[in-house]
Formats: sequence, C-alpha cells, structure tokens
Amino acid sequence: GRARERGAPEMPFTPPSPAQQLAAIGITRKGGLLSLEAYPKSVRNSDKEKEVLQRILTPDEESFQSIPTPDEDDWLGYRKVKDQTFAKYVKSKPKRAGTGTKIYLLPISETEDLTNFPPKGALKMIVSAFFGLEVEMLEAVSITCLGGIGSRREEDDRSTWTQYNAQDILSALGRRKPRDAHTLCAFTMHDIYKKGFNFLFGLARLRSGVGIFSFHRQDPASPSCEFWNGGTERQPVDDALLLRRAAATLCHEISHTFGLKHCTFFRCLMQGSNSLGESESRGLALCPVCLRKLTWNLGISPADRYFKLLRAFEARPSAFGTAAAWIRRRISLARLEEKAFPPSRVGGSGEKERKRANIKDGPSKPKNKNRNLGRPRARVDARFCVEAERAKATVKATSPRSKSKSPARPKTDRGERKSRKGAMSPRALRQLSGEALFSAVREAILRKWYDLGVAWKVLDANRDGRIDIREFRKGLEAVDFDWLNERVTLQLWRNIDQNEKGYVSFTEFRRALGRRSKSEYCCTGPRGRQKT
Ligand SMILES: [Zn+2]
Ligand SMILES: [Zn+2]
Repeated sequence: GRARERGAPEMPFTPPSPAQQLAAIGITRKGGLLSLEAYPKSVRNSDKEKEVLQRILTPDEESFQSIPTPDEDDWLGYRKVKDQTFAKYVKSKPKRAGTGTKIYLLPISETEDLTNFPPKGALKMIVSAFFGLEVEMLEAVSITCLGGIGSRREEDDRSTWTQYNAQDILSALGRRKPRDAHTLCAFTMHDIYKKGFNFLFGLARLRSGVGIFSFHRQDPASPSCEFWNGGTERQPVDDALLLRRAAATLCHEISHTFGLKHCTFFRCLMQGSNSLGESESRGLALCPVCLRKLTWNLGISPADRYFKLLRAFEARPSAFGTAAAWIRRRISLARLEEKAFPPSRVGGSGEKERKRANIKDGPSKPKNKNRNLGRPRARVDARFCVEAERAKATVKATSPRSKSKSPARPKTDRGERKSRKGAMSPRALRQLSGEALFSAVREAILRKWYDLGVAWKVLDANRDGRIDIREFRKGLEAVDFDWLNERVTLQLWRNIDQNEKGYVSFTEFRRALGRRSKSEYCCTGPRGRQKT
C-alpha cells in the first residue's frame, strides 16, 4: 500500500453533524451564544451587539459547506486531527495581539531581482484587511545577508534547483524580529526544506512568532508546481493565480501564529492540506468557528472585517473576484450592515492601506507587457548585511575552540552545507534576560551538541541519570555562558528544575529545552513527507 506517516493511526474522519458544528462555534440549540464571558463588557452588556455577533456566527448552508468525507490522500484521510472548538481555543490562552502590534512581511531572495514575486502591495493589503492589523513590508533581504543559511541541491526528472534550510532561516528571523511585531513572516520564491523532509511549503515557530513560506511550488511556471503550466514563463492568468495562492498561504499561516489550529468543522481556509489541489478547493473564507477565534483574539468586529476585506478583494478582481463575491453573498444572507459595531480599534488604517495599494496595483493601471519594466527593483537592506558580517566575524574567532570540544555530529542530509554563522554576538547576549536569555542558552546547547540526547550524556558527568545545578553550570561554561552570575544561573536552572528538587531527569530536561521544536509548525504535502 501507500506509504503512511510513521505512527499515524488509521482513523477515518467523520464529518461533524450540524449540531456538532454549532457546538464548536459556541451556539446553543436554541440559538443563544455561549462563551460570552470571554468578551469585554461592551459586548456582553449590549443586546444589539450580541444579536449581530450571533447573526454573523450562525452559518448558512450556502456559504459554509460541510467537509466532504475525505479521500485516502487528503489531509484528513489518514490523520487523527484534534478538534479545536472556540471554547477550547479560548482555554488554550493563545498569544493575543496587543494594541499597536504589527505584522511584518519580509521577502527573502537569493538575488536582488524580485520580479518573480507576487505583487507585494497587494499581499500587504490583503493581509492587513484579513487581520485588521497594520502590516509593514520590510525591504527584501538576500539569503547571504541573513547569514548561516544551509542549502542543498534538489532535483527531479525535469530540473535541478537550490533549496534553503527553513530552520536556519527561522533562527535568523528570530534575531531580527522588531519589538512591535506580533509576527515576522518571511516569504520566498525559493524552495525550502527541513532536515528529513524533501521540501516544505512553510515552517513557523508559534511561540516566537516567526515564519517562512515558500511560493516556489505555487508558481505555475515552476516545474515542481502541482499545476505546472509546462513552460518557464508565466502565462497571462498565472500572475493572478500565484497572487491568490500566496495570499491564502500567508493568511492561513499567520492565523496559526494567533493560535488557530487546523479546522475540522467546515470547508475553511484553516483546514490542513496535503497538496496545492486540496488547498485550492477551499477559497479564502474562514468558517464561523475560525472567524470567531480570530476576531475574538484581535478584538475586532467580524462584520467590520467583512466590509474591509471585501474592499481589498475588489481592488484585485482578477485574483480575488470569487472571494469578493462570496463575502457579498454572505453579507446579504446574514443581513449585515456596515458599522453595525462601533468602529474597531484599528478602524481607518485599513482604508488608508487600501487607497495606497490601489494607486500602486489597482486594476485600472495599464498593464506592462514586459513585467520587468515599471516595477522598481528591490534594494537589499544594507543594515542586515552589516549585522550578518559582524556575526560571521565573532563566530570565526570562537569556532576553533568549540569545534575541538564538541563530539562528532550526526551525518546531515545529502549535500547539506551546515553552517551556523548567524550566532549572536557576545555583547548582544549579555543584554538578554528572562525568557530571551533562556532561549539563547537553549539554542547554544542545541547548536553545540546538536541533539539533546548527546547534550545529556555530556552534561551528566557522573552518569547517575540526573543533572544537578553543578552539572548544569558546567554545561553553561561549555556553551560560553560562563559569565553568568549565580543569581541568573539559578533563574535559568528553575526553568529546567520546575519542581525545585535540586536535580532533573532526562524527561524534564527535554521538556524544558526541547520546547522550541515542539511549537514548530510544519506545513508540507505528501511528497514532502519525512524521508524513511
Ligand atoms: Zn496549517
Ligand atoms: Zn474553520
């Protein structure tokens, strides 16, 4: 039979009944809203607002279709996916967007030529309207400037191309995340991978709010695209196709960074997918369960959001015509009126974004026959390059020592050039404290021993199956954190010895230090499945 993911149980998915769907949204059989205690007083105490909220969250059969019984190859065809109802979502205490936080988008490319990217102005406009947050598009950064990004060659029977290590990119992004960023989301037209996988569509670290997404396999002119157009040039419809796919990917993935898990209730943008074909079958709309989660997190009115999103979709009808029609129909079926809610806290900014983007990318603009003309060439941000150079220099100075101490690393994938040039400078490290310091230590341990099992064997010097604070201090010295004072060392130790027993077992050690990889959210298709 077909290769299955290791450990995946054979568990056919049963589409939820209408009653289960309503329960997931938090609507009683009589039509009342549950979980209202999660909302601020202004909503709880206003009958009008509650009534509108209830109306917008009550699904109509035309707009919100049930999930069909999945095929064997579909996302739900062989996986057991845990349901995340609205109540469960609130209980999970997801990271919430604070006032004034932004979403940052960052194009990453090997070369300075960004002409094959989907139009950045349009992406920014859609993401901003989707989340009701301010979106900032950063200057493009080259792979070289990021520093220390591993790469390898990938090939199929049509061509060969370079892939970049997504985990290395995420580590580099973590160090560059602006203070007011809820999410720093990078995107690239290059193919990306993670050790053990053929390729990835994207990889995100939920806790640190960074993500990297590749549109390589969404580009109709790319031979590794599921719907390859057969050539190397984009055809007239391809730009709109790529833009729609890229926008859907960004909205889906950024929603993950707001704590939304994959949807199992309706046909919905937040459903997991195994292939481009599967995600294409869903459109850009959130089902009422996911809509409630997202708007609750952001503190925005779902009705308001529909009207803003509609205007953004209407500005690019070639890519988003269907999505715009869907919202118009939903607005009329739910009898929504604009400004049914008081203006959301981000009110107004979306409008400005739209106007600006409209001038740049609006449909009225005469189309250039040659795509390379008329679009400004992106400049690589010089500031990032300087940082990368500095990081390189510090690693060069320390690397011979750490090399002689560390045991042999397990063999990496074919052709992968492992390098960790992007480490933080000692000076920058000394300014860290609390959680940031702990994650720097965690990263240093993983960088040195590669694997927590190896680290454990080295640190448990007397082999008693425990690590105590003395052994932990030795470990800190080994990863060049010997400058930490007693008080800070003790604080770090409490992150690991959470029961304050004075020692930890391997399980506790792994739980504390392995956290980062646990929250890594990996989006990949069946062909990208773990190599066996
Ligand atoms: Zn996903
Ligand atoms: Zn959903």
